[in-house]
Amino acid sequence: MNSWSWLLKTLCRAFEALFFPPRCLVCGKPIKTPPLCKDCHTQLPWNRNACPLCARPYPPKVPPHPCGECLEPRAFDRVVAPFRYEPPVSRWLKSLKFRENFVLARDLGLLLKGALAEEGPFDLVIPVPLSSKRRRARGFNQSALLARWAWGSFQEILYRQRDTRPQSELSAAERKRNVRGAFALKKPLDLSGKHLLLVDDIFTTGATVEECARVLKEAGASRVTVAVVARA
Ligand SMILES: [Zn+2]
Ligand SMILES: [Zn+2]
Repeated sequence: MNSWSWLLKTLCRAFEALFFPPRCLVCGKPIKTPPLCKDCHTQLPWNRNACPLCARPYPPKVPPHPCGECLEPRAFDRVVAPFRYEPPVSRWLKSLKFRENFVLARDLGLLLKGALAEEGPFDLVIPVPLSSKRRRARGFNQSALLARWAWGSFQEILYRQRDTRPQSELSAAERKRNVRGAFALKKPLDLSGKHLLLVDDIFTTGATVEECARVLKEAGASRVTVAVVARA
C-alpha cells in the first residue's frame, strides 16, 4: 500500500470513529458518550481486586496484598489494568491486534484513560514498540493506537533492537529470556526525574513491560507506570 492510500484509509477510519454516533461497545445501543451503556458497564470483567503493584487479579474476597512476584523489586512501579483478560475484553483485544479497528481503539483507549484518572501527571506516554518486521506486516502498533486515543499524543522513544519470538508461544521463563536486551532507546535521553507512562494492550507475565521499564529506569526515569487494557 502506498503512503497516500494509507493516509486516506487512516483519515476515513478516524472520521468514522469521530463522527459516527457512538454505540455501546457491548450491546451496540446508541449512547451519548462512548464507550459503554449503563447496563453493560456492570457486566464486564473489571479487575477490581488485584495486586496493588502489578494488578494480578485475585479471587473476590481475598484482601489486596502484594503478590509473590512483587515481593522482589520490579522494574516498573505500578501497573493499571482496568480489566481481567476474559471475554468480551479478550475478544476485543484480538480484534484490535489483527484488524485495524479505530472505533475499538478509541473505546478501549477511553476506558484505559478513565482507569488512570487518579495517576499521573505523566511527562511522557510511551507505547511498547513492535519489531519493525511485525510493524510492517501489521501496518500499525496497537499500543500506539491506544495511546493516541487515550492521551492524544505519544513518544516512540523505545525500539526493538532485535526480533523476538511472539511471547504467546512461550513459557514464563522463556518469555523473560526472549525479551532480555530486546529494547533500547532510539537515541540517548536523560529521563532523570520523569514519571513515564508505558502503554501496552495486555499484561501476561509482564516480561515485555518489565524489560522496557528497565531500559527507561537505566536512563534515569524516577517512576514508570504501566497501563494495559487487560491483565491475564
Ligand atoms: Zn450496552
Ligand atoms: Zn504483583
